[in-house]
Amino acid sequence: MKAANSVLREPALPSDWEMVVGLEVHVELNTKSKLFCGCANRFGDEPNTNVCPVCLGLPGSLPVVNLRAVKLAIRLGRALGCEINPAVFARKNYFYPDMPKNYQISQYQQAINTGGAVKLPDGSVVELERAHIEEDTGKTIHIGGSGRIKGAAYSLVDHNRAGVPLIEIVTLPQLYTASQVRAFVRELRAILLATDVSDARMQEGSMRVDANVSVRPADDSGLRTRCEIKNISSVRSLSQAVVYEANRHIDLWSTGGSPSQETRHWDEERGCTISGRSKEHTEDYRYFPDPDLAPFAFSKDDIAAVDAALPLLPAARREKLIAACGDTITPETAALLVERDQDELVVDAVSVGADAKRVTTRVVNDLALDDWAVVTPERLAEVVVMETSGRISATQAKKVLAEMVEHGTDPEAIVAARGFENVSSGEIESIVKDIIEKHQDEWQLYCQGDATDRKKMSSFLTGQVMRATKGRADGATVGRLLHQHAQN
Ligand code: ZN
Ligand code: MN
Repeated sequence: MKAANSVLREPALPSDWEMVVGLEVHVELNTKSKLFCGCANRFGDEPNTNVCPVCLGLPGSLPVVNLRAVKLAIRLGRALGCEINPAVFARKNYFYPDMPKNYQISQYQQAINTGGAVKLPDGSVVELERAHIEEDTGKTIHIGGSGRIKGAAYSLVDHNRAGVPLIEIVTLPQLYTASQVRAFVRELRAILLATDVSDARMQEGSMRVDANVSVRPADDSGLRTRCEIKNISSVRSLSQAVVYEANRHIDLWSTGGSPSQETRHWDEERGCTISGRSKEHTEDYRYFPDPDLAPFAFSKDDIAAVDAALPLLPAARREKLIAACGDTITPETAALLVERDQDELVVDAVSVGADAKRVTTRVVNDLALDDWAVVTPERLAEVVVMETSGRISATQAKKVLAEMVEHGTDPEAIVAARGFENVSSGEIESIVKDIIEKHQDEWQLYCQGDATDRKKMSSFLTGQVMRATKGRADGATVGRLLHQHAQN
């Protein structure tokens, strides 16, 4: 299956150590305008075209809260099972060239969302500390050299991103393997897409993941010094980065040293983390409530309305899918189908009587990349019933599906036009006999060889039968006939 092929080989850690990861995920909210001004929130525009005195931090300008951004934040909060608190904004003071105010408007003592959890497809639960609102900074672009600040000739600043609404989701340190880290990011992304809170595109920077990594001996439960890794631009880099960092800590601890708490950057080309700055402590930021923004709260009714408008979330969709398919579907396949937004197609096709296992196989393998929107559950079920009843072969079913996707034609019409009808059982039996006669060497190997030979020869002989019938024979039937002949 495609799902299995795309799984990365798990990078190794010594078994007597455990990695502990907490994530901080910044996500840009799906709003038309910025968090405190009317400028467009849009990726990819000409630099410094979506700017005004507020997001440029000019003296005398005043921020006004974008209510839609705050509502999206609490929508996500409810989807994550968080407690909703009043909206209170604070200034986080630090200097950076792409932040002209010299402070970022964020939330400090009271985040709008606290608590909550994400349940992963494998059943594990990752608790959240908070999910707070803040504004994004501008973007510094380094010209010359490798594109990094080090070695650059000069730098340019684009303020289009300054003031874009963000939500920062902070987990507790409860992720222990690279695959769990990946699963968390995928699950969070699925929730963000389902709730329409963000487009969550890591490659465009609308979802950015920082990882706090530490290690401990496997029999220990305390937390040791952590390092924060920034600059991670894909889920793949994320798992490489956390494992690299964990191994670095293990080496240090094992040789009498210790890591120091710092921010590190993931170097994509070299595949390692490099020291950034020593980590600031919260007191360095001199947080204080923003005097320009009055706190406000949502009523119980407001929150009830948010709850009522929530769509079915990925975890519930997986459960629904598993309920419809029973034990013919693995949790991984269920997760994949929900991610591809094909779960409803499968549930509906099964509900009109198609075999669940065959439906999922066809959807996973044969409706993977194409634009499958024209395939209705009824038509999908029709193809699958033709296949399971033996009217058409598996090969023919794939062709029917491909043609449906391409032309939107209905299955009956395709079968008629292509002259797809399965070979009759009498006909197929004589073809199988014929193939055995013609390929005696292979047949002997099939009958007398070990399991590997048998498997190889089985697919060779089946292939010959398929050729002779132009793909009209059913593979399973051919396999059964070969097996029968070998018994005689
Ligand atoms: Zn603006
Ligand atoms: Mn932040």
